[in-house]
Amino acid sequence: MKRVAVIGGGVSGLASAYYLKKKGVSVDLYESAPRIGGRIGSERMLDRWVDFGGKNIGKKYRRFREFVRENGDFPFEYFGFNTSQVVDGKVVRLTKEGRKLSNLAGFIRLAGPGGAARLYPWIMALVKDNQQGMLNTPFFNSIADRLDHDSLASCFPPGCAAHLIRPVTVRMNGAEPEECYPGNFGSNLALVLDSYEQLRGGMHQLLEAFSADSSGQLTLRTAHQVETLSRSSESGGIDVVFSTCGRRATVSYERVIAALPAPQLSLLLCGSAPEISGLLDRIRYFPVSVGIAAYRDKVFRKEHRAMVFDHTFSLSNAGAYGIHDLDLVRYTFSGRTARQQISAGSVAEDVILQAEKTVLPYFSIADNQRTAMIYKYLSPGLCAYSPFHYRLLAELREKLADLPGLFLTGDFRRGASIEACFAAAEETVEHLMSGDRC
Ligand SMILES: Cc1cc2nc3c(=O)[nH]c(=O)nc-3n(C[C@H](O)[C@H](O)[C@H](O)COP(=O)(O)OP(=O)(O)OC[C@H]3O[C@@H](n4cnc5c(N)ncnc54)[C@H](O)[C@@H]3O)c2cc1C
Repeated sequence: MKRVAVIGGGVSGLASAYYLKKKGVSVDLYESAPRIGGRIGSERMLDRWVDFGGKNIGKKYRRFREFVRENGDFPFEYFGFNTSQVVDGKVVRLTKEGRKLSNLAGFIRLAGPGGAARLYPWIMALVKDNQQGMLNTPFFNSIADRLDHDSLASCFPPGCAAHLIRPVTVRMNGAEPEECYPGNFGSNLALVLDSYEQLRGGMHQLLEAFSADSSGQLTLRTAHQVETLSRSSESGGIDVVFSTCGRRATVSYERVIAALPAPQLSLLLCGSAPEISGLLDRIRYFPVSVGIAAYRDKVFRKEHRAMVFDHTFSLSNAGAYGIHDLDLVRYTFSGRTARQQISAGSVAEDVILQAEKTVLPYFSIADNQRTAMIYKYLSPGLCAYSPFHYRLLAELREKLADLPGLFLTGDFRRGASIEACFAAAEETVEHLMSGDRC
């Protein structure tokens, strides 16, 4: 097979390139930014790289871990699951460290008996078959058929929606439970049931190793902004129109994988495939801001490393960057209040000062000097999918028959985690190789 173009150098694009290379196919990877990584990007802070996007790697991330192994020797460090929140004036902690019984008691306290009863069969479905923990699986598609007429919030008693469901949806989808749908919740629940590590050297080293590509099969076209994708009248394949260094060019490929968030993909297709573009516009994304701040002294204790905040705050989560980085705080701003109070134009210092005020009663921030900070506003930030999402995916697949040679992947296909992006990319490459649609 001739070279395949992959559009987008985030996890979905890198995974697509990785699986194509494994099949012996050479890849031209187009990325609009100067560096690859997208929402797993790293930034320099003081004397190290820090990851502002996806960085926590589940023990069950089989595909991503294989990718890491094949790119070099990159050790993981324990990250765990350790969070707390204020319920009725008291701090309730949930952690997978320590006694199982007290963790279960914490869970039931947050869920309430009604919430626990609703969640039980969903959790058991995932315990029996971990594969159900992605989008578009039989168990959760049947949940969608029954329940997606209403939002996720409507499935749970208010206390459970506020204390257990919301911390998950604002964190993983940037959305309130009223903005999410039951049929997609399996992809979130599976992540809650996993436990986490992170790359000791951060994502940066891994991205560097991948870029170095000793096989000669990968051509990285960074700072190449793709403008349109359309059917080539000459070759019958796909025309990729892009701009770089102030000039515009077109290259025609027999096969193209577009590995982008749905809104960005929609823009590329609105002229050539308005129906596909319209379907993609129905998939919701919400912005998220991330600030990482270093302090002179430890902010956290090892046994109390993170806290989620309720819907009245723009800060949704504050946590230690790593188990050995108790002086480094990662602030995440997502959910409705964050959207109302923070925009692309917000001043980073103001946003972080507000977050420091929010965490002040719980962590050692007073008199603790901040020594450095980075801040990013990401939009599109987190994917919240759509109601009856699996049906939309089926419609997309049907409409793609009008554009033979074009294959779509991204966080909207199997779920928004790094592993789900790898799963979607692997399937897309399988379809591409077999000539099937995707
Ligand atoms: C704050 C945050 C924290 C997260 N934490 C975790 C976590 O701990 N664990 C986990 O598993 N997942 C996590 N996730 C989810 C995970 O990081 C994302 O789902 C994943 O990175 C999405 O990758 P992607 O390639 O689909 O999209 P992106 O990363 O958005 O990649 C798309 C790429 O395409 C490029 N691009 C866009 N338009 C064009 C164009 N026209 N031409 C060329 N290039 C273009 C962009 O610059 C970008 O690099 C997190 C996400 C966020 C935002």
